[in-house]
Amino acid sequence: MTYPAVKYDYHRAPYERCRRVIIFLFVFSTAISCLINPWKVRSPEVSSERNARISAARNPLVNNSGPSQRGSHRINVVAPLPYLRSGNPANSFQALRQSVIAGAGFDFLARVGDMMRDEADRPTKPGVIYNSRHKSGDAFDYNQEDSRVLLVREYMSRRTYWRTYLLCEKQDGSLGIKTDLHTDNVGRVSAYVFDFTAAAGRFGWERIPAKEGWGREPSKKEHWHYQMTEGLSFDRAVTLVKANSSTAAGGW
Ligand SMILES: [Zn+2]
Repeated sequence: MTYPAVKYDYHRAPYERCRRVIIFLFVFSTAISCLINPWKVRSPEVSSERNARISAARNPLVNNSGPSQRGSHRINVVAPLPYLRSGNPANSFQALRQSVIAGAGFDFLARVGDMMRDEADRPTKPGVIYNSRHKSGDAFDYNQEDSRVLLVREYMSRRTYWRTYLLCEKQDGSLGIKTDLHTDNVGRVSAYVFDFTAAAGRFGWERIPAKEGWGREPSKKEHWHYQMTEGLSFDRAVTLVKANSSTAAGGW
């Protein structure tokens, strides 16, 4: 009488161990890959604005050239110094501007309150910091005097922000979404609106929170300020934007 099962296990054991090792290596390498490559995981902890940055990096309208391009780029807008850092900031601003025209029906970003600032600028208004991302060409302040700006206050992580909506140029339903808003600047509004903050986020532009004391000093609200730092330190971004002075003629 033979015992095929015992004989089978005896010869199969090395193969079974080998199979387990291969499975373990596969699972282990996949886990390590997910840990070092954030594209493969999207944690619910990741903020919507961080996700927006990730989306922008994949947005075909944005030339994802990486944060290594040098110099600044003149932007065709009305601004004291109409320049942004070359590469993604300059390219994505143009893409956002077109998106706003298509979505809101008017060229909201044709005029901005501020764009690049001189490196030597010393802040005079409350809330303006010396190491402003305007100096590194990573920021713009939209035109807060535009009467179509609608501001809705939001709280995230104990900080105060404002979501900026734009009143669409046409109110016949061909633009925007009909929404009831309780705004800080004009009270209750029921109209077709365009979510500027969301659009900016899709193109990689982040808003910043209001600074402490914004209730006493309106210049600390910062709802007009959008920036794209690409993870660069202030010093690194300044070095990049100053690296090619010929394209920054007039920008410094
Ligand atoms: Zn600003």
